[in-house]
Amino acid sequence: MNLSEFYNKAIEVAIEKDPRGKDYVMDELKRKQREYERLTDREKELFDLDSLSNPYSDSRIIYGKGDEEISALMAGIDIDTGEIVLAEMLRQRGRRIDMVLAHHPSGKPFANLAAVMNMQADILSLMGVPINVAESLTETRSKEVERKIMPANHDRARDAARLLNIPLVSLHTAADNMVASYLQCLFDEHKPLTLEDVIDILMDIPEYKDAAKNSMGPKILIGSKGRKSGKIFVDMTGGTSGSKDIYDSLRTSGVNTIVGMHINEDHRKEAEKHHINVIIAGHISSDNLGMNLLLDRVLEDNVVEVIESSGFRRFKR
Ligand SMILES: [Zn+2]
Repeated sequence: MNLSEFYNKAIEVAIEKDPRGKDYVMDELKRKQREYERLTDREKELFDLDSLSNPYSDSRIIYGKGDEEISALMAGIDIDTGEIVLAEMLRQRGRRIDMVLAHHPSGKPFANLAAVMNMQADILSLMGVPINVAESLTETRSKEVERKIMPANHDRARDAARLLNIPLVSLHTAADNMVASYLQCLFDEHKPLTLEDVIDILMDIPEYKDAAKNSMGPKILIGSKGRKSGKIFVDMTGGTSGSKDIYDSLRTSGVNTIVGMHINEDHRKEAEKHHINVIIAGHISSDNLGMNLLLDRVLEDNVVEVIESSGFRRFKR
């Protein structure tokens, strides 16, 4: 399989597992196409053509032509210059590495992270939050994220990849879709009664069990073991944390428990104020689960060696 085949398959699978549903995403892509056709030639020059077939602005080929044959890849959660140099050193020691796969984006996909946050509004509306409230809060928050990201030195990893000629891909929301839909289906199906039951379900998943062995396992952050879990919202995809003002609307829309990857202090206080139970499954463990589910589908019958790095652990299903 070559680099383009790997990337295209990853996006295809991510669309299939998008919490908004495949049909919705395909309609969005058609809308994007119409938007593109209306642009002036000058605007078209700057347009991200990948966005016509890939709705996840934080998941892209960062460096590479596409025709590179991939039979071994090094995957990591955070990839920067250090990891690219590590890949090169391993190559010099005789390990085959045809590409580096990052979960968290860098370069252009990181600069465009805020764009993918729009999908949060649609996911919230599926949870019962009025779409006008969801869109308004998400828009304010995504602009904040955009401003925060703007000053970064985005191209460090890409420059390292270019100088050492190692293809580099990031699959962020593409992988987060996998973990979000996997866990949401699991909870919808098993309907855990209490928060302890939610933890038990998570602990049956190898990625969380492995994290727990290293004291990074799932935790009840707000609530207690015996509390009822009620309606569960798996909040794990759409770029980065959404608005801290969403908890009031989530409460009134009937969400009782949020299962997330991580939560900051401001969000935690707001969730507590609105009596919403919060379970933190774990950040890197959830990232790992998403990446593993995606790799299972993308690699399927292809014999591709996956070298673990930067917090990534491969668990096959
Ligand atoms: Zn992450």
